[in-house]
Amino acid sequence: MSFELPKLSYAYDALEPHIDARTMKIHHSKHHAGYTAKLNAAIEGTDLAGQSIESILAGELSAGVRNNGGGYYNHCLFWSVMSPNGGGQPSGDLADAINSAFDSFEEFKTAFSNAAATQFGSGWAWLCAENGSLSVCSTPNQDNPLMKSGCGGTPILGIDVWEHAYYLNYQNRRPDYIEAFFNVVNWDEVSRRFKDA
Ligand code: MN
Repeated sequence: MSFELPKLSYAYDALEPHIDARTMKIHHSKHHAGYTAKLNAAIEGTDLAGQSIESILAGELSAGVRNNGGGYYNHCLFWSVMSPNGGGQPSGDLADAINSAFDSFEEFKTAFSNAAATQFGSGWAWLCAENGSLSVCSTPNQDNPLMKSGCGGTPILGIDVWEHAYYLNYQNRRPDYIEAFFNVVNWDEVSRRFKDA
């Protein structure tokens, strides 16, 4: 058993104008495919083969498994928390938890956007759940909150702030990309992940 590049549930151009088709195609079919292949090569013949990605990431990590296992997991999450029917605000238990942790959706959005904008160089910003409580953090490179080096909790929303995620359309304007991302967030999927966390 090896890890497979997941198919997207929407077309490469479905998130336009917020995320352009060329970026999506390269990001999924080249970058994510690359992490997937390198993860499989790194675990082949080791006792990590056959383990879940969550289990692998929670353990001791070689550089190859850390970078490519993180890259595999992070992008699987990223595609799933976006949708052409996304945007707006969450409802129900997730909305209550956001209000409890951040006082309001707008305060949450500011905290998440700041974490994404100020992550120096390549990395990710996250909304994490732990015992029903929410927090925001960021990680460098392809690290994530599940790792021993990570910021803790279970990630339920993440934004990729590597330049490959936005540079073709936004060049150096990372804050504009972050703002646009909120127009495609799939809050139904984030709520599902919150329930599971
Ligand atoms: Mn990426």
